[in-house]
Amino acid sequence: MKYREAWQKAAGLLQDNGLEEARLESEILLRHTLGISRVQLHLELERELKPEKETVYFETLQHRLEGEPSAYITGEKEFYGRTFLVDKRVLIPRPETEHLIEKALQIARHYECPYIADIGTGSGVIAITLALELKDAYVYATDISEDALEVARQNAEEYRLEKRLSFYQGDLLSSLPEMVDILAANLPYVPKAEAGLLNGEPRLALDGGKDGLDLYRRLIPILPARLRPGGTALLEIGIHQSELLAKYIKDTLPQASLEIISDYAGIPRIVALTLPI
Ligand code: GLN
Repeated sequence: MKYREAWQKAAGLLQDNGLEEARLESEILLRHTLGISRVQLHLELERELKPEKETVYFETLQHRLEGEPSAYITGEKEFYGRTFLVDKRVLIPRPETEHLIEKALQIARHYECPYIADIGTGSGVIAITLALELKDAYVYATDISEDALEVARQNAEEYRLEKRLSFYQGDLLSSLPEMVDILAANLPYVPKAEAGLLNGEPRLALDGGKDGLDLYRRLIPILPARLRPGGTALLEIGIHQSELLAKYIKDTLPQASLEIISDYAGIPRIVALTLPI
């Protein structure tokens, strides 16, 4: 069987099982099995797949069909054009979170050397991406999970960021060493009832209580203690949550101004909350 045929067969298999990105995922898993780059795969599509590789490939696909996400199988996931290590200790970065990055970069332009916090950093993708995109920024990343921080530190190791990026273990803002100008938080926001069904990702990274907003309801009242006047918090949320959260913010911090940014699917995804000066 040629690489091309194996890929086609696999894509069909994943598609028949209802996977939306069957072609892409079967490609990612084939490249992982062969240990080759995307370009290499496309150049070698007519090559024969060795029988032992074929066995490994279809076993891997079986794991995928049993619900294991491709990113956990390969141990990596792309985010904002870079590859990050991921495993079961952390949430798999989602493309929607790139909207948070874009907004943070836009705000950071107004500062000479912005101080930034990433609360609930998980694999570290937000903190690391911002530190790399903003050469004069100082970035603090926190997580309650020491396990997650190990992954984040490993991801950061690849880049020389020691002077501008540091990690702290602690609940929400408790371990944040100083005030910041921009605060990013992709906290767990999946409603409890749905959070158990999600493909082996850590419940701690997903479960946001009954309506998903428990952690944001704990974070928002304490924001002014760590976010400078005029500073902006960027909070990622899920479907049907923007109105509820906006109302909570208006009741809790009535002076704050709000902007809501939708993702490519049109779902309100990022709430930008700016404190008065
Ligand atoms: N976007 C993720 C999902 O829908 C949830 C991420 C989170 O809870 N912060 O599965």
